[in-house]
Amino acid sequence: MKYIDEFRDPQLARKLLADIQAHSKQRVRFMEFCGGHTHAIFRHGLRQMLPPTVELRSGPGCPVCVTASTDLDRAIAMAKNPGVIMATFGDMLKVPGSYGSLQTARAEGADVRVVYSTLDALQIARDHPKQAVIFLGVGFETTAPTIAASILEAEAGGLDNFYVLSLHKLTPPATRAILDAGEVRLAGIIGPGHVTTVIGSRAWEFLPRDYGVPCAVAGFEPLDILRAVAAMVEMVESGQPGVVNAYSRGVRPEGNRTALGIMRRVFEVGEAEWRGLGRVPASGLALRPEYARFDAALAFPVDPGPTREPAGCRCGDVLRGVVEPPDCPLFRRTCTPAQPVGPCMVSAEGACAAWYRYGEADV
Ligand code: SF4
Repeated sequence: MKYIDEFRDPQLARKLLADIQAHSKQRVRFMEFCGGHTHAIFRHGLRQMLPPTVELRSGPGCPVCVTASTDLDRAIAMAKNPGVIMATFGDMLKVPGSYGSLQTARAEGADVRVVYSTLDALQIARDHPKQAVIFLGVGFETTAPTIAASILEAEAGGLDNFYVLSLHKLTPPATRAILDAGEVRLAGIIGPGHVTTVIGSRAWEFLPRDYGVPCAVAGFEPLDILRAVAAMVEMVESGQPGVVNAYSRGVRPEGNRTALGIMRRVFEVGEAEWRGLGRVPASGLALRPEYARFDAALAFPVDPGPTREPAGCRCGDVLRGVVEPPDCPLFRRTCTPAQPVGPCMVSAEGACAAWYRYGEADV
């Protein structure tokens, strides 16, 4: 299939792997920020193909996984308000909060609906003018512009029953937080492909400048990822860290100005709570005061009670790259995709789900 086969060509993959092997002298650990990359790396068996000098470690790039329990609990409490319809992407449904999930809230009578886009949520609001429709805004810079566009559309259409609970997060500050914490030694970052189509590859220039760490932005096919790894090995070995755009068919240095413009019009940057990272300055998106009437956090104040983390779950450590899923005592034992204990096993982008699906059964 054109546009896919050319990025899965086994001969080219072998050549890239030979290049990596030939150039890689120092032992390095690279973090793939993005959960989509984690799944692609596992699906194509790339970890096993790389030379022993190159280790890949999953990062916090799964928006469902990094949603803090306290925020999830608020969303569940809001969904239980009579007259509220909570619209959410499917991945959030089964994530366990302190006292249940959106799915259990639905079983208890809350009106929780899975949508595939914000357009679906807007349509639900139009179809149910006497109910309040809250869209659960979970995602990174890739999703935020579409949510911003939905707010502008609701405003233009005079919809007064559409709200957003904005739990959006920004990826560069989280990467900074991991490097600042210094818990895990990283020689390079594989930049998230989809996010970087929006924010642009220049957004990662702080990595070589402030941390001396190279970054290569990658797409999601095996050759994209191997090219990024090869570029980072070369930068490490030459001692010249920089930012390489190994996804030039999707990413421009300046990003997508239209998407950024819509996002900045509706949202302002603020602190956000991340699972595993805690409160990270300038890493969240809140609605600007001009759009406060769409803000579910203001319209539906709730007190969900004290937060309780799932006992024994090491999602926070997995998201910081400090441990890998098999290091969690619950992995494959009490925690499985059918009975997930933590979000990293629920989400299609979660590292625990990737290890469970593609990893070795005896780890
Ligand atoms: Fe949490 Fe389950 Fe992953 Fe352990 S295996 S860190 S319990 S999601």
